[in-house]
Amino acid sequence: MSLLNPEWTALLYLFAAVCFILALKGLSSPKGARRGNLIGSFGALVAVVTVFFSMKLENIPLILGAIALGSLIAVPIARKVKMTQMPQLVGGFNGVGGGAAALVSLLELGHADNVWIKIAIVFTMLVGAVSFSGSAITVLKLQELITTRPILFTGLPILMTLAVLASIAAGVLTILTGSWIWATALLVLGLIVGVLLVLPVGGADVPIVISLLNAFTGIAVGASGIVLGNVLLLVAGTLVGASGTILTMAMAAAMGRGVTGIMFGAFKGGSTAGSTTQSDRPVRSSSPEDVAVQLGYAQNVVIVPGYGLAVAQGQHTIAELATALEARGVHVVFGIHPVAGRMPGHMNVLLAEANVPYESLKELDEINPEFKNTDVVLVVGANDVVNPAAKSTPGSPIYGMPILEVGDANQIVFLKRSMRPGFAGIENEILFDPKTELLFGDAKESLGKVLAAVKAL
Ligand code: NDP
Repeated sequence: MSLLNPEWTALLYLFAAVCFILALKGLSSPKGARRGNLIGSFGALVAVVTVFFSMKLENIPLILGAIALGSLIAVPIARKVKMTQMPQLVGGFNGVGGGAAALVSLLELGHADNVWIKIAIVFTMLVGAVSFSGSAITVLKLQELITTRPILFTGLPILMTLAVLASIAAGVLTILTGSWIWATALLVLGLIVGVLLVLPVGGADVPIVISLLNAFTGIAVGASGIVLGNVLLLVAGTLVGASGTILTMAMAAAMGRGVTGIMFGAFKGGSTAGSTTQSDRPVRSSSPEDVAVQLGYAQNVVIVPGYGLAVAQGQHTIAELATALEARGVHVVFGIHPVAGRMPGHMNVLLAEANVPYESLKELDEINPEFKNTDVVLVVGANDVVNPAAKSTPGSPIYGMPILEVGDANQIVFLKRSMRPGFAGIENEILFDPKTELLFGDAKESLGKVLAAVKAL
């Protein structure tokens, strides 16, 4: 006998669903994000406990063992992960969610008694498997264990078409026969489709694909709610699917990209231009003292932060530098690109941590017309988001992405460690511009030296 009657179960599920909605609301701003996370976690806890007390479960020790094992693996990883590795973590957890939905559906095949449930099973297995393997590839790309550039090979479009057609065939056969063999084939084919779908995505488009795969997992989990007859899974999955879809569309719009173009653009060829190696063309290098003089005697300075600032954890030093310059009467703002860093809103979160006032952060459309009135633009650990190849080089993996047009400013100073390219793996012409100077070194250290020199002016 279960302890909770259906009315109480429904009420607790409704409570959990409201928690999930409030969590999403909280997550929509950096200020409410922590609270949103806690509310969402509490909702998930209520949901899991409700399942235990409302259903006649078999294999309880095995279920508890699996929860303990999952927690033992996930908690230390989540605690230790660096802020800059958060997208990999989210990508990994997201993929595991899709994979779990696919496996649960596979196991439910034996209990499916009508064709609609079998269709839901096939759908969950395919989308979940695509999400699992696709997310695994994004993790490898983000961790730079494989190249971040588009991976293309002859025959890829044909292989992809065959894999999709074979998946559809295996899906139809699973529905018609209910056979495990076809279902397993469908799972394997889904994994292959996920890999082939994400391999050709490169450069600036990876963030959008992460968000899209997140939406896929949500949809798969929602469909698994139909398979298991669990309303809360359906609601939670739909929420993730819908919010992931909205985020994908918003990011694609901000990047001037179409989602189909991102997923299938590479199949049409191209997108492989550029070089991954360091250039040995001459550049102008600078010293902290010179940079301090340029900044300290400027009227308008724009700081463009990027991934390297997050790696160096230079956010507090950069905030101090901005304050020191403002104390000298210099007008300082930050130009924020929508995909700077490695996750949506990365720079906003980073700078909020250092209490940079929100009004000092200017978005792309707002700041681009200002560059022509800017004396010095200080590019700190950013590369792709200021790379003019996005406008000038049609074969480039970032072609079409809107950039921060730092080339319009009077002086450009880059803070980076070497001549290595950014995430997209392509050379940046602006580094060789006669107006550009480079201060080589770790961003935090360089910023510290520039700050000391500004204070000494
Ligand atoms: P990039 O990856 O283009 O460039 C980062 C630069 O930082 C590099 O040139 C690197 O040069 C420098 N750098 C790295 N570590 C340090 C350090 N410790 N000190 C100083 N410099 C350092 O970053 P952007 O922010 O310009 O662009 C983001 C890229 O990431 C885009 O291509 C985007 O599409 C992609 N992306 C974005 C996601 C998002 O959601 N925001 C998610 C996934 C990918 P060097 O090694 O010489 O120091």
